[in-house]
Amino acid sequence: MKTKSIKKDKVNIVTLGCSKNLVDSEEILTQLRGNGIKVTHEAKKDGANIVIINTCGFIDNAKQESIDTILRYVDAKENGEVDKVYVTGCLSQRYKDELEVEIPAVDAFFGTRDLPMLLKKFKVNYKQELVGERIITTANHYAYLKIAEGCDRPCSFCAIPLMRGKHVSKPIDEIIKEAKNLAKNGTKELLLIAQDLTYYGLDIYKKRNLADLLRNLSDVEGIEWIRLHYAFPAGFPMDVLDVMAERPNICNYLDMPLQHGSTRMLKLMRRGITREKTEDLIYKIREKVPGIALRTTLIAGHAGETEDDFEDMVDFVEQSRFERLGIFTYSHEEQTHAYGMDDNVPTEVKQERANIVMELQEQISFQKNQDKIGQHLKVLIDRKESGNYVGRTEFDSPEVDNEVLIEAKDTYLRIGDFVNVQITDATEFDLYGKV
Ligand code: SF4
Repeated sequence: MKTKSIKKDKVNIVTLGCSKNLVDSEEILTQLRGNGIKVTHEAKKDGANIVIINTCGFIDNAKQESIDTILRYVDAKENGEVDKVYVTGCLSQRYKDELEVEIPAVDAFFGTRDLPMLLKKFKVNYKQELVGERIITTANHYAYLKIAEGCDRPCSFCAIPLMRGKHVSKPIDEIIKEAKNLAKNGTKELLLIAQDLTYYGLDIYKKRNLADLLRNLSDVEGIEWIRLHYAFPAGFPMDVLDVMAERPNICNYLDMPLQHGSTRMLKLMRRGITREKTEDLIYKIREKVPGIALRTTLIAGHAGETEDDFEDMVDFVEQSRFERLGIFTYSHEEQTHAYGMDDNVPTEVKQERANIVMELQEQISFQKNQDKIGQHLKVLIDRKESGNYVGRTEFDSPEVDNEVLIEAKDTYLRIGDFVNVQITDATEFDLYGKV
């Protein structure tokens, strides 16, 4: 049923899932706008008559959220609020055939590498000249920079290679062009992302080339912070630490998902590393880059996990004292290697174990934050909210880590500015300070 008014098409893009998906949405937005099509991102009531939903298919909860979002817009279509609903992204890549049967009201489903085909629905072509000209949807002063797509790793629990394919690095000059354009448009912080950042270059340069890329990015004028996300521990390129130590605009921050603290489980998860080797790597990282903030992610309740394995994980968290930590409960995903194993840990026990680890991490984070009281830290102001300016230090990534709150009443600060803040108080996950 066509919406009543005969107005020009207007598109709204809805993004679910991770920052890599967000970059994909930004590339769709850039191509549509570059072809003269009106398009917004995550706009609530903006009268868009066409919706593109960029889905996530990683684990149960994420899949459910994607399906709920699709059904919500299918309802809106049936109510005449929108004319067309297109679905793309990981869930669509993974379950296209099933989704086409189960939700026929969706106008078309696309995979994670089908942008040109999606554009065809708007009777426009992919514009190569727009590569590197990405329009960002984050605050103007920071942007995600995807340096590679896909993954060659065999991790037992992970469906990402099924949805994103094999690892493909972007050529350095393309990445530098994109970084320069972002800097020209006001970006000061680049968050480097990929499925496996440390694999960068092995395909196109036949060597791990992240260190080289970092030096080139660090030379881009206007970029004050470069942040590394999704490093893989096994085969970690140690020369990256030298660049981090030598270049002040590379944040003393490293996100390195480790997934578990028991060697038996790391073997079962096909992570290619032991607990001992992991601890040795952590020691070397902290030695080479003193004061670095280490972020990690763990999985509770993976198939085959015993109470003893879990005790090992708790002990690992206690010993390693990560600055930042997140934990997922294991999701038994079809077509993954672990799907052939017995999903032996009951759901409530998975959640219980995740809670125990987060409670422990809360204490560790509280103690580490207390140590920051009295320090002067460089803070990037992200927004103003309920009477406070809210910012981050170089040890904090947007949306996942700690924030610094500065009372706004006697101060005027500009969003996107760096300010020198004296920390006056701290809680588990926030710092308080004054300029
Ligand atoms: S490194 Fe492992 S967990 Fe990460 S995307 Fe690749 S297969 Fe998945």
